[in-house]
Amino acid sequence: MDTSATRLSPPEQPRDFGFFVDGQIIPAGEREVFERHSPAHDVPVTRLPKCTTNDLDSAVKAARTAFSDRRWSGLSGADRAAVLLKAAEGIRARLEEIAYWEVLESGKPISQVRGEVGGCVGMFEYAAGLARSLHGDSFNNLGDGMFGIMTREPIGVVGIITPWNFPFLILCERVPYVLASGNSIVAKPSEFTSASTVILGEILTEAGLPDGVYNVVTGTGPTVGQAMAEHMDVDMLSFTGSTRTGRAIVAAAGASNFKKLGLELGGKNPQIVFADADLEDAADGVAFGIGFNGGQCCVSGARLIVEAAIADEFAQMVTEKMSRISVGDPLDESTQIGAITTDAQNTTIMGYIAKGQEEGAELVLGGDALDMGRGQFIAPTIFKNVDASMAIAREEIFGPVLAVMPFETLDEAIEIANDTEYGLAASVWTKNIDKALTVTRRVQAGRFWVNTTLAGGPELPIGASSNLAGAGKLGQWALKNILK
Ligand code: NAD
Repeated sequence: MDTSATRLSPPEQPRDFGFFVDGQIIPAGEREVFERHSPAHDVPVTRLPKCTTNDLDSAVKAARTAFSDRRWSGLSGADRAAVLLKAAEGIRARLEEIAYWEVLESGKPISQVRGEVGGCVGMFEYAAGLARSLHGDSFNNLGDGMFGIMTREPIGVVGIITPWNFPFLILCERVPYVLASGNSIVAKPSEFTSASTVILGEILTEAGLPDGVYNVVTGTGPTVGQAMAEHMDVDMLSFTGSTRTGRAIVAAAGASNFKKLGLELGGKNPQIVFADADLEDAADGVAFGIGFNGGQCCVSGARLIVEAAIADEFAQMVTEKMSRISVGDPLDESTQIGAITTDAQNTTIMGYIAKGQEEGAELVLGGDALDMGRGQFIAPTIFKNVDASMAIAREEIFGPVLAVMPFETLDEAIEIANDTEYGLAASVWTKNIDKALTVTRRVQAGRFWVNTTLAGGPELPIGASSNLAGAGKLGQWALKNILK
């Protein structure tokens, strides 16, 4: 890989990655391998071992041993913080390498991935501070005969299962906090985007993390992932992915050791725009909110709920902005939307676009697969005259498809926004503080943005307000305090 060249290109040969147990990269050996083809370039880019449930057992054992002998959990917060800060430096030093492989596996634009990996540096730095400030509580209001002390202890072995849409970012929203509080980890990345999760193992070891504290098992969901959810020696599982798989995880945890769960699942998120908003800003935000990552984002603003008086004018502004989004080679610095990450997702999105037309919504932009000569790309798409009963209004499409729905009154806006089985995130655009506060209080969403969207930082928790979207408001907060 030559990242110094002005224009990056895919590798001539796919790179072999191993999996990572007890501080060692383990090559595939006799195991089957996944060969990942870049969804933008149609060439093989990485190869990773298809691990077995025996490999998972070895990783859990390494994590358990590392936890039990207290090589990490027994260190002071200051010592753990020192390792996390070195890891932050390590990520910064290898940012280009991580970004390159992630672009090739996921199809997302290089400029975007650089920003995401840079954000991960901040998460490790922030978690280093938390490692030093974790503390318990005491109860001196129990009468003279009793005094209570609550300590916060690491839970033990934490499994982390991640999806393909933000492979490194979602991993790093969890790993540094889980480590800061003294736990051991077994991570299972998506089979489509595993490389950066393995690279993090090397970075953590170089930063001084003791062997066995962070392990990675690559493999399929129904084998390794399911076995992790059922595993009797995994104490907690953080799962990010589809609502359907989330149900399987809950069932597996219930049928095994009732492991503690953190779930971040699907979304069908509203962008509510009032006539008194700064419409130029709001149109930028709405276009960004559905265009970012090609709409393959759990918190994408997929439903534009806009005040009827400005609905046509505003839809036109958003259409104009979305028509200027540059879709193309994700290795090109100027690309804003890259390829659709998986073949199945590509089929799903095109299926919803066809369904929207069949159900009578008006297609005002896009709707096509874009022919770039190679790879799979979908044009930013907008539907108007969307009825609340239509599939494109109700179901998570996970693509660059915006459904526009007008409202007359504030109550109606709230009703439309809440007419969903999800409750993950929402945005409201208005200059009126009363409206903004009313909407944020009455619309069910774990994350709310006012006059912005998809913003955040390590200081802010993430969460969900309904069980279909995730594990209640506990979400990231629970992970940042991953203690018994
Ligand atoms: P997915 O559920 O298919 O896969 C997610 C992960 O689970 C992968 O690592 C997969 O291998 C694994 N898996 C699959 N079957 C499993 C099983 N039976 N047991 C255990 N693990 C299993 O989801 P995806 O297609 O990779 O990601 C897209 C979905 O993720 C979307 O629905 C999106 O909304 C959701 N998502 C949510 C958030 C959030 O924070 N709420 C963030 C990103 C993605």
